[in-house]
Amino acid sequence: MTRHAPILSDPSPTLARVAKGERCAGCGICAGIAPKSIVMEIAPSGFARPVQGCNLRGSQEARIEACCPGLGQAAARAGEGQDPLWGPYREMKSARAADPGLRDEAPSGGALAAIARHLLASGRVDGVIQIVADPQSPSGARTALCESPDAVSSGIGALPAPSSPLQDLSDYLARSRRYAFIGKPCDAAALRALAWRDPQVARAFPVVLSFFCEGVAPAAGQTGLQPRCGVCADVSGLTADLSVADAAQGESFVLARTAVGAEILAQAEAAGVLEVSAADPAALRDAQPVLRARRRALFARLAALRLLARPIPRYHGLDLRACARQNPILDNLRSFAGTLRESLARPK
Ligand code: SF4
Ligand code: SF4
Repeated sequence: MTRHAPILSDPSPTLARVAKGERCAGCGICAGIAPKSIVMEIAPSGFARPVQGCNLRGSQEARIEACCPGLGQAAARAGEGQDPLWGPYREMKSARAADPGLRDEAPSGGALAAIARHLLASGRVDGVIQIVADPQSPSGARTALCESPDAVSSGIGALPAPSSPLQDLSDYLARSRRYAFIGKPCDAAALRALAWRDPQVARAFPVVLSFFCEGVAPAAGQTGLQPRCGVCADVSGLTADLSVADAAQGESFVLARTAVGAEILAQAEAAGVLEVSAADPAALRDAQPVLRARRRALFARLAALRLLARPIPRYHGLDLRACARQNPILDNLRSFAGTLRESLARPK
């Protein structure tokens, strides 16, 4: 992407707030909203970060502030009787691609790839935007726009490399086509937050899919986890139409969170591209020990950070208290004390 001559007298206060608190998720929607002013680059930390070259218009600043996942996220609470760990859903199923070749080639039985290909084959969307491995960099990722079922990568899913799948948002909107967006939960949340405010975005992205996410590691040669991932309250694609998790043994859990998601799931099964069966919600807990522990510990971790006046994202409706109640009190106290220790050891 072209860099612009620097005409920057007013750095964005929103981007400055996010950067100061190390809360950037690298989604790229700020660059997608203000493409002439912001580009995404890999920072010395090894993570994708926005670089501002020109002043933002007031409307751009407001849109970025409204949808940046570094500042916060809102999502509906889990339904009656549902596990608060994974948020609300209409249906939870086990699924795998009906095509044995795709099942063998793709992770988790290829359910997400089969659904994405079906969306294109059925004409529901004109393009699928997905994060794929970068052939130029062994541990890198890039964003691909796929306009035919065969172009959809079977390796679709949670790649731990930095990626900014929303940085070209303005280009997608300019084409006046309909897309299925497949991104990390933070990417999906950013896109949904913008779509709730902007009918053009909602029309361009009638389908949002996501996958369970354990976080982003820095670009090659560095170690650690993106700081925003350590305070992530949405690890399971709470704002997506469908979110997909590995179920081991060549299957996926598929959570249909919206009417659109439930319809897509039913249509993919009816079209014979997806094999679907009943899922046991307790098995999802067992299959996701890392995310289960992280969700349960987050309430205590955020309380410790709040006590130290460290910046944290604002969360609304993400069931953090209910998740913490699944932990013995001693575990929550340990998370609280561990976060205090870890934060005090780092400069503010
Ligand atoms: S989280 Fe996304 S919108 Fe917010 S600063 Fe980072 S790249 Fe931009
Ligand atoms: S854990 Fe995943 S969803 Fe959460 S901030 Fe990190 S990359 Fe985004």
